[in-house]
Amino acid sequence: MEQVVIIGSGPAGLAAAIYAGRSQLSPLVLTGSLLGGQAATTSEIENYPGFPNGIGGMELMQLMQQQAQRFGARVEMDEVVEVNLRQHPFIIKTYSVTYEANTLIIATGVSPRLLGVPGEDTFKGRGVSYCATCDGFFYKDKTVVVVGGGDSAVEEALYLTRFASKVYIVHRRDQLRAQKIVQERAFKNSKIEFKWDSIVTEILGAERVTGVRIRNVKSGEESVLMADGVFTYIGNVPNTQLFTGQLELDDLGYIITDRRMHTSVPGVFAAGDVQERVLKQVVTAVGSGAIAAMEAERFIAEMEGRAYPERQW
Ligand code: NAP
Repeated sequence: MEQVVIIGSGPAGLAAAIYAGRSQLSPLVLTGSLLGGQAATTSEIENYPGFPNGIGGMELMQLMQQQAQRFGARVEMDEVVEVNLRQHPFIIKTYSVTYEANTLIIATGVSPRLLGVPGEDTFKGRGVSYCATCDGFFYKDKTVVVVGGGDSAVEEALYLTRFASKVYIVHRRDQLRAQKIVQERAFKNSKIEFKWDSIVTEILGAERVTGVRIRNVKSGEESVLMADGVFTYIGNVPNTQLFTGQLELDDLGYIITDRRMHTSVPGVFAAGDVQERVLKQVVTAVGSGAIAAMEAERFIAEMEGRAYPERQW
């Protein structure tokens, strides 16, 4: 019987593990397939306090993991395939183990939204990528296309200029959504060329990607950009398939929580991007992870009939 099971090993999951560990609940973190979550695939994180010169996403997540383990968290590289939240203790099944848990903290994050155009599926791993830090190195002196106009697209486009000789940013509007400081860097970078008001309608290739077909949404004009790789950053979808029908989700599939990270099932908490629609940041994920862990501790204390300090939320 586990006191606290945490699904997900991004900033929210690991912050929850640090706090639950310090409460001596010996939390179990089930990492999922992506150790460190999406933050670990971010080339550089410049706005997490305490790192004035920025820090690599992977490095930051390794440090958080070490910190959680120092306080007794157990980190298992395993993927949850089924949960039963209709009974208590909750049942959490991975490919190989079935756990029972008094509390559950869901920090499963989000996954990249797919373009959904011809060629995307065919060339996945053969020129189509969702992770510049994983694959950027393979595009030394090559041309790549980045799709999107948010923080991820522009930051990762900048990262790709370290390798590629040319980076197109294809964005569906004529203004970026990314933070101003990042926009300015991109506008100054001579390797980056913007294709405004444009969407990708097809990914072209033979063995590997050779280019993309784009359409200008204002003029309707179509053209082809020759490129060796396509990196897509058009937002995210929450990883909540496991909980459909068991927890209250909003219209976009995010888990609904109150400000104490309680979900619709007592004893089940959610933290990080999986419940945050607006400000998806490492700093917000860490905050909600900490709150979720403290509330899990309270739930266990109340379950066991122990006194727990009252907090005004
Ligand atoms: P995002 O902010 O949702 O931006 C997605 C971008 O893709 C937008 O520019 C959007 O266009 C475009 N888009 C959406 N659907 C599209 C479609 N079907 N076809 C073409 N373009 C499409 O996503 P994100 O950049 O991945 O960022 C996610 C969250 O993480 C945000 O809250 C972001 O601020 C945060 N983040 C922060 C940092 C940082 O602080 N350094 C770094 C990375 C991410 P429109 O602009 O027209 O809507």
